[in-house]
Amino acid sequence: DQFLTKPFNPVLLAAVVKTKIERFRETLRSTRLDGLTGLFNHTAAKSRLNSLVSQIGEHGSLTVAMIDIDHFKSVNDSYGHPDGDQVIRSRAWLLKQRLRKTDLVGRYGGEEFCVLLPDTDLEHAEQVAERMRAYVANSAAVNIAALRGLNVTSSFGVSASRFGSTTIEHLIDQADHALYASKKGGRNRVSRHDAFAE
Ligand code: GH3
Ligand code: MG
Ligand code: MG
Repeated sequence: DQFLTKPFNPVLLAAVVKTKIERFRETLRSTRLDGLTGLFNHTAAKSRLNSLVSQIGEHGSLTVAMIDIDHFKSVNDSYGHPDGDQVIRSRAWLLKQRLRKTDLVGRYGGEEFCVLLPDTDLEHAEQVAERMRAYVANSAAVNIAALRGLNVTSSFGVSASRFGSTTIEHLIDQADHALYASKKGGRNRVSRHDAFAE
């Protein structure tokens, strides 16, 4: 989207190209990443999940965890939205810290996150989720001063792909059902959806 007439100044050419690259990267960042947390946004997380599902081999497995902050409305009501935002941000950071480089964390919705664990079976994913649950439930110290002493818990639902036959919608739906069971069961817990039991 720009012309330089020959003979061009190489320094000017380099500067123009650099600006275009930066602008392109910025566009890419803002369309793929969530502004509040820096995590993959809903669309990017889903498309990543889509490609991971299509890559699962005959014996591979992929696990999805859906995570929802418990009673988050009351955090907003008690402390205000800016502090609520800060809780979402620190929760995103905590989740990311606990995972491998190959795992993916996305902000699925307002106070909901999704975690994709490639090459992980349901039992192992449940253990990972349980560790994350305990970790975030006891992490008041990283929250902002106004919230010091307040433990904000999260509920988890995990589901695993059934070799090759799973669609992302199905996988997310199953994890959502498990998450709902965690909420119904009293929150601050992990539930799994066992596809093999169907
Ligand atoms: P539950 O334990 O059943 O999940 O209860 P909850 O209060 O967390 O659930 P509910 O869905 O009723 O409320 C979610 C709240 O999250 C409502 C909405 O205002 C708030 N929320 C969503 N996105 C944001 C955000 O980006 N920032 C802040 N501060 N609040 C948000
Ligand atoms: Mg929610
Ligand atoms: Mg919630």
